[in-house]
Amino acid sequence: MRIVLLGPPGAGKGTFAKYFSRKYCIPHISTGDIFRAEIERGSEIGRKAKEYVDRGLLVPDEIVIEIVRKRLSEPDTVRGFILDGFPRTIVQARALDEFTTIDAAVYIYVPMEVAIERLSSRYVCPRCGRVYNLKFNPPKNDLVCDDDGTPLIRRSDDVPDVIRRRYEVYYQTFQPIIDYYRSKGLLIEIDNTIGSAKAIPLLEKILVEKGILRIKPCNPDTPIV
Ligand code: ADP
Repeated sequence: MRIVLLGPPGAGKGTFAKYFSRKYCIPHISTGDIFRAEIERGSEIGRKAKEYVDRGLLVPDEIVIEIVRKRLSEPDTVRGFILDGFPRTIVQARALDEFTTIDAAVYIYVPMEVAIERLSSRYVCPRCGRVYNLKFNPPKNDLVCDDDGTPLIRRSDDVPDVIRRRYEVYYQTFQPIIDYYRSKGLLIEIDNTIGSAKAIPLLEKILVEKGILRIKPCNPDTPIV
């Protein structure tokens, strides 16, 4: 199953991706996570990306495309992959088609007010990437990850000014990408206003019915959120 997840910041792409990745043992490839890790390591890519990520702007296409091209050539992608946060421009979408074939583009959307509310109370585990929300999906114990006990952190770009900028960038760039996948007959639209706990099983059913999700789960009891 080779899918890309599209949608605004805070729509739930990471939560969807983590569920399918754990349940079916296929890699969750998040360009945002890759950049955050590179910034943390202080690598050359990290230094280049930081000036864009910190301001909520898109990292230049050539940098992102090269990262994804390399990542998709790793052996763990043979059973499939879930791309989260890529493509974000039409140039990236075309580049992706040159090095792989996508089975579906899943467009996960929520109204902006809902997403902003979710982002402003979002916490993440810096070790495993699990996403929590203090209002809707809090950790069992005070601000530590349920899975590995690591203290949770806020993403540095989850602050009002940068959230707003990420939204502006998103709305300026998303429509041609949606149109691109719709014209190829690959677009699946999911309204996630109902919350991931309900929307994820809906998507799973659609993917099975369309014959896109054919692999057996390696962790059938994976919890949804
Ligand atoms: P979100 O979707 O919540 O805004 P991500 O974690 O996907 O956040 O991305 C964080 C930041 O990383 C973006 O604001 C941008 O600076 C950079 N980034 C991630 N993916 C891409 C991409 N495909 N193209 C350009 N920049 C990207």
